[in-house]
Amino acid sequence: MSNLDELFMKEAIKEANKAEQINEVPIGAVIVHDGKMIARAHNLRETEQNSLAHAELLAIEQACRELGSWRLENTTLYVTLEPCPMCAGAIMLSRVERVVYGAKDPKGGCAGTLMNLLDDPRFNHQSIVDSGVLEEECGQLLSDFFRKLRQRKKQEKEWRRKQQGLGDLQ
Ligand SMILES: [Zn+2]
Repeated sequence: MSNLDELFMKEAIKEANKAEQINEVPIGAVIVHDGKMIARAHNLRETEQNSLAHAELLAIEQACRELGSWRLENTTLYVTLEPCPMCAGAIMLSRVERVVYGAKDPKGGCAGTLMNLLDDPRFNHQSIVDSGVLEEECGQLLSDFFRKLRQRKKQEKEWRRKQQGLGDLQ
């Protein structure tokens, strides 16, 4: 791990912040090829109502277009949250050389937490995986988001209950 890893993870965090601003779960990813950032994306699942619109998949699509190849050799993918099984699969099939993630995902992480799809010799491609880069910052983004979401839901519930009460009085 290096200062460069932190630098690029900060770019992924910027992407996660963009997701947060549009009420998406704050997850961001960037892809770096030979030291140059060639793709950046954030989670758009709600916006697009598409379960495939994860930050990593969107970044992989951009990177393939940018390089004119499905083989993302000599690339590093930075993502704020540990990849899910779908994204880990796409990373493997795109032959991404290295993956760096921030926070672990105990409910879906397939890059070391629940299993490691990215570093299993039974598959024909393995990626180098480094975790824990700006882990606290990446995790905090998510816990803040879910805390606010719970508060908002609670407020909405109370508001509806009040409206209901007013309706009964009329
Ligand atoms: Zn995913």
